[in-house]
Amino acid sequence: SPVAEGILRRKSFQLRNKQQDWQESVEGQKMQELRRSLPAYKEKEALLNAISRNQVIVVSGETGCGKTTQLPQYILESEIEAARGAVCSIICTQPRRISAMSVAERVAAERGEKLGDSVGYKVRLEGIKGRDTRLLFCTTGILLRRLLLDRSLQGVTHVIVDEIHERGMNEDFLLIVLKELLPRRPELKLILMSATLNAELFSSYFGGAPMMHIPGFTYPVRSYFLENILEMTGYRLSTYNQIDNYGQEKSWKMQKQTLRKRKTQIASAAEDALGAADLRELNPWTRDSLSCWNPDSIGFNLIENVVCHICKKERPGAILVFMTGWDDINSLKDQLQSHPLLGDPTKVLLLACHGSMDSSEQKLIFNKPEDGIRKIVLATNMAETSITINDVVYVVDCGKAKETSYDALNNTPCLLPAWISKASARQRRGRAGRVQPGECYHLYPRSVYDAFAEYQLPELLRTPLQSLCLQIKSLQLGSISDFLSKALQPPEPLSVQNAIEYLKIIGALDDKENLTVLGRKLSVLPVEPKLGKMLILGAIFNCLDPIMTVVAGLSVRDPFLMPFEKKDLAESAKAQFSGGDNSDHLALLRAYDGWKAAERQQSGAEYCWRNFLSSQTLRAIDSLRKQFYHLLRDCGLVENMEKCNTWSHDQHLIRAIICSGLFPGICSVVNKEKSVSLKTMEDGPVLLYLNSVNAQEPRIPYPWLVFNEKVKVNTVFLRDSTAVSDSVVLLFGGTVSKGAMDGHLKMLGGYLEFFMKPGLAATYLTLKRELDELIQM
Ligand code: ADP
Ligand code: MG
Repeated sequence: SPVAEGILRRKSFQLRNKQQDWQESVEGQKMQELRRSLPAYKEKEALLNAISRNQVIVVSGETGCGKTTQLPQYILESEIEAARGAVCSIICTQPRRISAMSVAERVAAERGEKLGDSVGYKVRLEGIKGRDTRLLFCTTGILLRRLLLDRSLQGVTHVIVDEIHERGMNEDFLLIVLKELLPRRPELKLILMSATLNAELFSSYFGGAPMMHIPGFTYPVRSYFLENILEMTGYRLSTYNQIDNYGQEKSWKMQKQTLRKRKTQIASAAEDALGAADLRELNPWTRDSLSCWNPDSIGFNLIENVVCHICKKERPGAILVFMTGWDDINSLKDQLQSHPLLGDPTKVLLLACHGSMDSSEQKLIFNKPEDGIRKIVLATNMAETSITINDVVYVVDCGKAKETSYDALNNTPCLLPAWISKASARQRRGRAGRVQPGECYHLYPRSVYDAFAEYQLPELLRTPLQSLCLQIKSLQLGSISDFLSKALQPPEPLSVQNAIEYLKIIGALDDKENLTVLGRKLSVLPVEPKLGKMLILGAIFNCLDPIMTVVAGLSVRDPFLMPFEKKDLAESAKAQFSGGDNSDHLALLRAYDGWKAAERQQSGAEYCWRNFLSSQTLRAIDSLRKQFYHLLRDCGLVENMEKCNTWSHDQHLIRAIICSGLFPGICSVVNKEKSVSLKTMEDGPVLLYLNSVNAQEPRIPYPWLVFNEKVKVNTVFLRDSTAVSDSVVLLFGGTVSKGAMDGHLKMLGGYLEFFMKPGLAATYLTLKRELDELIQM
């Protein structure tokens, strides 16, 4: 209506005047000057031109050149100048909460406003946004959710997708949805921004959209790898050298006994020194002695040494330490704080960069500290491209990053760290050369770097497809196969089909590919569906505690050590935990429970040593259990821990729940005279890994083994297995949607033909139905 139009026009003029006032003020002028010094400024007109002429453009440029803080602002300013301020609505997505929040705050400050005026942000469970907010920074997940409610993004004029080079799953998802939307909204503008130069891929995905590059400049950075670092810091240098010379030259000359003693010494020295670097890759000879190695945790002592070494240097400059996750950052911060030099606040400003930093903490991170004080920032890989700390001169790179998970709605980080790519390592190194020549300390050997992948695989292709399919369903994005076929790099159609079949078998999807109640619960848990199903059943059947241990064990790795030279002893130690149960999972459960008890009496380390267990792995299991509990509680699946454990002592129930998760990973057992023969439906005869407790048994008094994983070498080998009875397989193997009982029986019939006696079938049907209703409730 004319009245509404009049109001908007008036509003637009007000916004224009306000912007002009700020730009003409003294502070505003100063800010303008600073902003003009960024490389993006030189391209401002060209960028705005390209945006007005095209529906989609792709912008790339070195990190720190001003893409995130400037480009959205240029658009906002030019809209306001053109008196369209009241009708424009710009959304800029960020892969992480922290960048959405800190960038919004920065941009508001550059405009001389407070957050919630023309600039705001929105992340999960939080946000500052006012009636006049025209530029909104949000996480990719937030925009995805908005698209769910409003398929055509009514009223939005510009969408800017930032950091697309990271190829996060949310971003790939978002691009599919936006690509569909563009023809329906011809006036909507889409701007894709990326730090590295793989712009062609995105440009061709959007039908040859124009590419713009912002040229930048960085100073050279000197790289040091682990071998140089150990030498420089003098840290256990002598022991380290012995590892190398030994393996290659002297080992065979050594007396057997001395050799063994040496091995233990070296193992502990190396463990002490490195932690992070997977030493197995350094020298194959050390492999056995290092089977207790935990490549996922970082050697804090080494980091402390390196940081200390840098702090003693003359040249000022901040130190940026790349860690894998928040847990590690916190523990390292604690450790460094108790160090005589690093913990001295008159000499060192120790900061952690995290998702919920308030603005005073942010200022500390971005601003230069007082002279004579060394700033040390501990950060995750978000400091790789999302945020730029200008005065960094030294970078310490642990070489790992937690790979983000598939949980599109919650953006929950995945639980396991992995080696980064060469591209990431280069990017981390580049952070040191923003203001002057820098130095980068890679805490892994050169040979490990050479083995890194060139680029990280896009998350969409790295994520287990089963989890991905659940996400597509829970985001209501239509047919799974159709949707995925439209991705930037789509997964194999056959694998997609297999994943859908699997989800039907475990009862997460019904016959028509709709999410079941169980499927909906599984889609909010950031673990593989099979593990999620065990957790959910553990909660339903009130035996959560042992199930959390089993699931944590399956997600981390085997805590049982099998040192080459003491194989027999180690095997019998493990067999002891199995106690004739024919289950690797129950053995793990007992080993863990025993360790917890020993820990309470301060004898955890001795217990591990005696029983050939890795205390690092057990600790990792312990911390994962806690995370599971919080997750289940946050998702509303668990209210009260005690109530969830009234059946925790019941071995049969635990076995049944393990079966419900691992099915259809199942093989049949036939006891021959001297051996056991195993078969799966798909592979025929299979074998067990020798470290399975079931591999040692002359006979297995159960008809089935459920297993977690199979690996094909020449024959198919099964890892960790648990023996189960017919009735457990019948009742817990898969869930059945209403109406699909016949199909289920037929399928199970393949496994269990001999079992389906007429009388039993009816009882089974009733029981099975009741059970499935309980699971799907
Ligand atoms: P890009 O997105 O291209 O990597 P940014 O727009 O994030 O670049 O950063 C441009 C410049 O603004 C950098 O020099 C960075 O250090 C600076 N900057 C970004 N955020 C802040 C902040 N909160 N405080 C101070 N300076 C900042
Ligand atoms: Mg950026």
